[in-house]
Amino acid sequence: MSTNRYAGKGKRFAGRVYRLRMIGLGIGFFCVASVFYQLHASLWLWALLVFHGFIWPHVAYRAALTWQIPYRGERCNLMIDSIFGGLWVVAMRFNLLPCVLILAMLSMDNIAAGGMRFFLRGVVAHFSGFAIGVLTLGLTFEPQSQMPTVIACVPFLVLYPLALGWSTYRMSQKLALHARESERLSRTDGLTGLWNRRHWEDLLAIEFERCRAGGASCCLLLLDLDHFKRVNDTEGHAAGDAALRSFAHFLQMTLRPGDIVGRYGGEEFAVILPGLKLADAQPMVELLLLDLRLRTGNPDRALRCTASAGLTCYRPGMTDFTAWMMETDRCLYAAKAKGRDCVFVSGEHGAYSLKPGAPASMTHADSHLSL
Ligand code: GH3
Ligand code: MG
Ligand code: MG
Repeated sequence: MSTNRYAGKGKRFAGRVYRLRMIGLGIGFFCVASVFYQLHASLWLWALLVFHGFIWPHVAYRAALTWQIPYRGERCNLMIDSIFGGLWVVAMRFNLLPCVLILAMLSMDNIAAGGMRFFLRGVVAHFSGFAIGVLTLGLTFEPQSQMPTVIACVPFLVLYPLALGWSTYRMSQKLALHARESERLSRTDGLTGLWNRRHWEDLLAIEFERCRAGGASCCLLLLDLDHFKRVNDTEGHAAGDAALRSFAHFLQMTLRPGDIVGRYGGEEFAVILPGLKLADAQPMVELLLLDLRLRTGNPDRALRCTASAGLTCYRPGMTDFTAWMMETDRCLYAAKAKGRDCVFVSGEHGAYSLKPGAPASMTHADSHLSL
């Protein structure tokens, strides 16, 4: 995997660690300071402690942002924190409470940032800090924690886990939001915002089972724009895209709120019409096609083409939803064969085509065609 792919990744992570580091090291300063005061620590140790407690968080954040991948920079900073932790343990002469507290908090940060492997790297960094401490300060062992040190450790013990918990909670909320958003995107069609084919078919399968189990009535409608290729050929692909979006919007505005509309393919749309019998769905589709035909003449020319439709109703004899879909698809092709801009219906009383707005005699003449 190339480095460039991750360029700029982890800026938010660096920001999150920056805030936590300011809190953690700011409060942690007082734990170490209480021991240093007791031990009359040297000036350079005090200077180093002030640097680590109050200056280092800002330096670390800026340094992480200069990395091509700030996430990596921040992981490096966490290792530097761990080295400091090891050094403070030796400098505090293993004073039990602050030493355990500091190592525990640093380990918690490391696990949160990179799991078990990163925690183990942190342990190695702690030992490096020990080694630096032993080489520069020598090894002295005074584990007893005095009362002022215990009191100085209390804010760190209480506040830092609270800050980390809050930050983790905020992050998990953001992740949940992203997960929901990407799930929504995986179900919708990018161009029209309708359900995409995969998700729409899942919904059809559910509806099919509902009909089979409870005897509910439901119709299935397939629509294909007529001579749509001409729009692309004459006005360009962008105009074609706009026409598809307008048609999707038209469907959503015209159909009932509970109808399930999906983009089945390029310029093919599919609709589940729950609770409708053929006798109700048929006039609704006729009106829809008529409305569309009238709108194609509108000066704004948002809707460019008429549509052909195949309409079927659930029948108990259907083996599965794909059989239902195939029957509706055959109706659509029959509507195209009948001259387009019409609906071809298949139901208990046979199959027939209807031209929206056409005189009744024409409707009857076309009745009972076999599919
Ligand atoms: P018919 O009446 O027989 O359906 O003719 P048609 O031209 O609509 O059908 P055909 O299948 O020949 O062409 C469909 C066209 O739809 C071809 C393809 O370029 C276009 N198309 C499919 N998806 C998109 C899309 O997302 N955007 C645009 N602009 N065009 C698309
Ligand atoms: Mg078409
Ligand atoms: Mg088509």
